[in-house]
Amino acid sequence: MLKSKSMAASSSQGSRISAGSRGIRGLLRSRPPVTYREGPLAYEPTVVCVCNRKAPRWISWSDDNPGRRYYRCSRARTYGDCGFYVWYDPEHTTFMKNLLLDLRNAVWELRSKAEEMAELKQINDLLSSENKEKVSVVKAQEKELEEKSQPLVLLANKISSGSSCSLVCCGFVILLVGLFFGLMLGAM
Ligand SMILES: [Zn+2]
Repeated sequence: MLKSKSMAASSSQGSRISAGSRGIRGLLRSRPPVTYREGPLAYEPTVVCVCNRKAPRWISWSDDNPGRRYYRCSRARTYGDCGFYVWYDPEHTTFMKNLLLDLRNAVWELRSKAEEMAELKQINDLLSSENKEKVSVVKAQEKELEEKSQPLVLLANKISSGSSCSLVCCGFVILLVGLFFGLMLGAM
């Protein structure tokens, strides 16, 4: 028994340090780590608060009383709050408290990580869609350039084919001149 107490104490210390240093968000802390199996008013027999209304039964996830059910005025934290606050479950053993705290913190931490991942995914999706847009813009510009350069390419082709034609003409003329001189020399 003594051994389990010291183990629980050390595990609780660990969980408190990790929960604090990693900064679990306040919003996450306000949400229970597990979904309630039954609604806060789905219990019998009815317990009424000072306002004479059925008091909802909640599960505490506080550091001091994790997983312990309590009744609270239905107008809690509002102007009409009568301050009714009564425990339903007896206090847990230190071992159970620490176990529930460790589980609670593990759930909160995983949720926080899942939310961070979802945020990163959103940023990633946004960046990749922006990238796609940029790529399509660049492609459109490339196409435009290609279209604009087409007449230039045609002109260049014309020039190069024209020069090859003139080369053939030149060769022909040289051949004719050569033949002419050859005939002249032959005649002499
Ligand atoms: Zn009340």
